[in-house]
Amino acid sequence: MKRYDPGVPVAGPTVALSAPALRSGPSDQGAPIANAPTRKLIFLDMDGVIATPRVVKDGLWAIDPQCEEELGRIISATGAELVISSSWRKHTIAETVDFLNEQGFRFCDRIVGVTIRGYHYLVKGAAISIPRGVEIKQWIDHNIHSGGNGEYVLGRNGTFNRRFLGVDFEYVILDDDSDMLLEQASHFVRCEWDIGLTRELADKAIGILRVSNRIDTPDNP
Ligand SMILES: [Mg+2]
Repeated sequence: MKRYDPGVPVAGPTVALSAPALRSGPSDQGAPIANAPTRKLIFLDMDGVIATPRVVKDGLWAIDPQCEEELGRIISATGAELVISSSWRKHTIAETVDFLNEQGFRFCDRIVGVTIRGYHYLVKGAAISIPRGVEIKQWIDHNIHSGGNGEYVLGRNGTFNRRFLGVDFEYVILDDDSDMLLEQASHFVRCEWDIGLTRELADKAIGILRVSNRIDTPDNP
């Protein structure tokens, strides 16, 4: 029994984002735009989160219905979109969706992105392992802070401002590994590799995703 083998790694190119176009906003002071919807993102690992050793297909961990059900609960409660950060991802969103469809994943229509494949960059013959948290930060910087055009936008205080483009967003990282960044700690829900996403952890994820619209969400308890 072994985990999914992602095959030969290739340095990840920029991927096309099929998410709704990011709106430009007039504010360069970080003020939220009135009534701007809060975009919810789940950075999703598969092995140890959705695929567990309880379900094995062709010798590999496969999608565990219990864990997938909990993911569905998060999506239903928050309207979250998915960015695949797992080694199950491919070079493009379309290829990733095709592959996950083949695996029977029920929420392919929620996939709006894949993180770069930076885990095995080859630089001058040396393998460099890049923490997954860096790949996730790159996706956020590229697709949220820069509006997808690769040009970072600085606020007046010289720091990136997440409201600069008029995109209010909240995110959660679901993973069984721990190579995330310190700044992501409050967004990180760590699963046990052999159990995956549980009801308790799904509730925690829902709580994180609801933080920024606690007042606006009608069904928020
Ligand atoms: Mg994993």
